[in-house]
Amino acid sequence: MPFQTYECQHCDSEFKAFEDANAAQNQFCSPRCEVDGKGL
Ligand SMILES: [Zn+2]
Repeated sequence: MPFQTYECQHCDSEFKAFEDANAAQNQFCSPRCEVDGKGL
């Protein structure tokens, strides 16, 4: 099962995501962190 633990680039918290999920690609734990992390 391609389920991995990642560390969020923004808040440094660990989260689990499927390898092929967007969260795994971007390594942000949530859409909010993705927005903040990218400075959007
Ligand atoms: Zn985060």
